[in-house]
Amino acid sequence: MKQKNDYNFHTQVIHAAQSSGDWQGATLPPIFQTASHLHDTAENLSRTFSGQTTDHIYMRLTNPTNRILEEKLTALEGGRGAVAMSSGMAAVSNACMALLRSGDEFVTGNSLFMSTYLLFTNIFKKYGITARIVESTDLEALKKAINDRTRFVYLETIGNPKMDVPDLARAAEIAHAHGIPLVVDNTLATPYLCRPFEIGADVVIHSTTKYLSGHGAAAGGVVIDGGNFDWPEERFPDFTPFIDRKGPLAFLDKVWREHHINFGTTLAPMHAYLTMIGLDTLALRMERHVSNALEVARYLSQKPEVTWVNYPGLEDHPSHKTAQKQFNGKGFGGMLAFGLQNESACFQFINSLQLIYHLANLGDCKTLVIHPCSSQYVSFDDPTREMLSITPDLIRLSVGIEASEDICADLDQALNSL
Ligand SMILES: *Cc1c(COP(=O)(O)O)cnc(C)c1O
Repeated sequence: MKQKNDYNFHTQVIHAAQSSGDWQGATLPPIFQTASHLHDTAENLSRTFSGQTTDHIYMRLTNPTNRILEEKLTALEGGRGAVAMSSGMAAVSNACMALLRSGDEFVTGNSLFMSTYLLFTNIFKKYGITARIVESTDLEALKKAINDRTRFVYLETIGNPKMDVPDLARAAEIAHAHGIPLVVDNTLATPYLCRPFEIGADVVIHSTTKYLSGHGAAAGGVVIDGGNFDWPEERFPDFTPFIDRKGPLAFLDKVWREHHINFGTTLAPMHAYLTMIGLDTLALRMERHVSNALEVARYLSQKPEVTWVNYPGLEDHPSHKTAQKQFNGKGFGGMLAFGLQNESACFQFINSLQLIYHLANLGDCKTLVIHPCSSQYVSFDDPTREMLSITPDLIRLSVGIEASEDICADLDQALNSL
C-alpha cells in the first residue's frame, strides 16, 4: 500500500494527518473549544507538565484542534514538527526571538513583508539586535554580511511587492558553511510551489491567513522545524537545554516554551478548523492562482497604459530562471505588481474596478488590489520605500481563482477609464 508521503501533493493536502487523535468518526477535525483539560490523577498532570506525555493542559500551551493543523502543515512541508500561532506575525516574531539574544545579528533581504520589516528594524533595534539587510537575490552580499555574531539568514520565497525569488538552495549552502540556519517565510509560494526543507532550509514560517486558509476567513501562522540543524554550541550555547530535552526538535521547543507560551500568541481552535477546511483545496486553488496570474501578467504587458509588469513568470524577469527551477515548473505564484503613469492614475484605476476587491490582504480566492505606497507604506519615509521598491506608480494585485477572462475584463475597463 502507498505510504501517505508517497501520494501526490493534491492527495496529501486533503489526507495528511487526517486520522490523528480521536475524531469519533468525524471526517472534519473536531473543534476543541475548551480553555483547559481534565487530568485523572495528580501524578499524570505532573508528568504532563514535565513533558513526559503530550496530553493537553491549557489552551495557551496546546490544543487538540491546533495540533491536527500542526501535523498537517508539518506533513505538507516535509518538516519534523510545528507550532501553530495566532497570526503570521506571531510566527515570524516567535521564530526570530527564539534565535536571537541582545547583541546578535542576522542577515535578511530587502524584500520583506511590511510588518516583518518593521519588526526587524524598529523593534529588534530596541533590544540591541542588528538586522543586516542586503539585496534579496544577491548571494555574494548575503555571504559578506555574515559575521561571528550572525545567528541566521532569513528570506522570503517570493518577495512582495518586488516579486523577486532568492535562490534558497544556494542561500542555505552559504548559511550552513557559516554554521547558521536558513529561515524561510514560505507564505507566498506555499508548499504547492516550493518545499524549502527539501532544498536546505532549516525553519519554515507561514502566515496561514493567506493561501493556506485561502478564503480570508481565518488568521493564523505556523513555525515548522525541519529538525536537521544541529545548533553548534559555539554559536548557540543557549540551545543546550533544549537539545538535551528535545534533540532534533530543540528549536521548536525553544520557540514554544520560551516564546509562544509566554507571549500568549495562541491560535483560536476555530481558526485552526477554518484553516484546515481551506487547506483541502490548496493544491487546486494554487493551480488556478498561478495560471490566472500568468494570464493576467501577459495581458497587462501588452496594455499601453501599463508602464511595467513585475511577475516572475514573465521570461524577462530577473528571477524567472530561479523560480522555474525552485518551483519545479509548477508556476510562479499568484501575486504580481505593475506600474501606471503616476499615483493619481493608480487611484483612478482602483476606483474604477468593479469585480476586483480593494483591500489589504493577499492569497484570497478573490482577486485583490491595493496601492501599497499610499496604504500599508504611507507612514514610511522615501529612502525606506525606495529600498523596499515601493514606488508611487505601483499597483499590487493578488490574482484570485475567478475566470481569468473576467479578471482581465475588469482590469481592461478600469484601464480604459484612464
Ligand atoms: C501576511 C504575511 C505575514 C504576516 O501574516 P499575518 O497573518 O497577517 O500576521 C508574514 N509574511 C508574509 C510573507 C505575509 O504575506
